[in-house]
Amino acid sequence: MRPLVWSGSLLALAVVVGPLAAQGGAPAAPPTGPITAIRAGRLIDPETGTVTRNAVILVQGGRFTAVGADVAVPSGAKVIDLTKLTVMPGLVDAHNHLALTYKEDPERNEYYITYIKESSELRAIQAASNGMQMLGGGFTVVRDLGNNGNYADVALRQAIEAGWLPGPTLITSGLIIGGMGGQFSPTPTMALDHKIVYPEYLEADTHDEIIKAVRQNALFGARVIKICVDCKRWGYTTEEIQLFITEAAKAGLKVAGHVQTAAGAQRAIDAGIWSIEHASALNDTLHKKMAAKGIWRVGTETPITLVGHTSAAAYQRTVAGLQNAYENKVPLTYSTDADYYVPGKTRGEVAIEFIRTWQDAGIPNAEVLKALTTNGYKVSELEARRGPIKPGMAADLIAVPGDPLASLDALRDVQFVLKDGLVYKQGGVILVGEFLHGGPQNIRRAPAPTQAAPPAPTPRRAGGL
Ligand SMILES: [Zn+2]
Repeated sequence: MRPLVWSGSLLALAVVVGPLAAQGGAPAAPPTGPITAIRAGRLIDPETGTVTRNAVILVQGGRFTAVGADVAVPSGAKVIDLTKLTVMPGLVDAHNHLALTYKEDPERNEYYITYIKESSELRAIQAASNGMQMLGGGFTVVRDLGNNGNYADVALRQAIEAGWLPGPTLITSGLIIGGMGGQFSPTPTMALDHKIVYPEYLEADTHDEIIKAVRQNALFGARVIKICVDCKRWGYTTEEIQLFITEAAKAGLKVAGHVQTAAGAQRAIDAGIWSIEHASALNDTLHKKMAAKGIWRVGTETPITLVGHTSAAAYQRTVAGLQNAYENKVPLTYSTDADYYVPGKTRGEVAIEFIRTWQDAGIPNAEVLKALTTNGYKVSELEARRGPIKPGMAADLIAVPGDPLASLDALRDVQFVLKDGLVYKQGGVILVGEFLHGGPQNIRRAPAPTQAAPPAPTPRRAGGL
């Protein structure tokens, strides 16, 4: 593999396609500060399925600056020896809920009860822990899609980006927007007084409410708009979903739709939604339509090994559905919806357990790795600045013993994690010290999403006001 170096032209590329440039901000300055050189025994590029042996990866200022087999290690660089490991980009869980952890005890895995028994404040702290557990499992990006109390997801994203604590890069939805009741069936007292299990959903039943709800989430820090397409019999029409999409686009945001019926999926596809969350309602016909339109399938395929969270019959349907989606070339993401406690496992260990479903569906390992990385960055709209191990990108990577291209089970044993150029896990041990600060850091590191271009001014008619 030809070495890739942070040269003038590559820097220019990074600046041109980068979010700062898209916002008209100042060009990114070349990195400065100490250099870290990572020696990788094997380096996987999931986008191409290629492997480079004995690669050197240079990191400076939180970014990759050079990558390749014949990159020289600069004198004075700190060297990290991963020659016995396989290095690859960080993993993406395209659907999780970090501020929700329902359990057998005390709530018998009824998440409705979790909302009543645990405050948003407590759940925000749990989310910080879950985020660290995900990062420890190699997940450097998580799409965090609601059911996160009163914007606990956004608070965690802000804290991670500011450098208060370690965690994955989060694509947060804020509150899920749905028709009255959201995903719940609240009693009149709960629904009308909005005091129990609210604000877990943001209710929007009319066009004005849809516009206002999108604007509220954008204002409060959403990075994607999540809607309940068909949680209730009345659901959203194609036209209403299009209104969500148009309004979200003004804030530079895409729309992700929770879908649980075939009719709802059809309406979401007709409207041109960005992603369909959950796959139980999808079938061959709908998969073909999704593939034709390039709509992301965020399937949340619960494995049979997570006892109590699926059934044998449901699992069979899940595996068959994933196979059918793959055969139809639907854009696939790795996604879990793993929002529960499995005794003995961290949240990251629960999330990686989902490779079992992909293995049972017979999806080639290289394709699963692509879903876990390349496609994850794309559905998160991060691919221009984070994910690939290339010069100019944020320095996130993981390392595992063995070869994930030969056996996905290698991903169960993440030994090393680098996040934004800082070592989070080494020798299988989590090290948080470099990430903890007594005040905000990196406050300019994470730009807001690309803003849509303002509409062209309407020409005034002569004599008009
Ligand atoms: Zn979910």
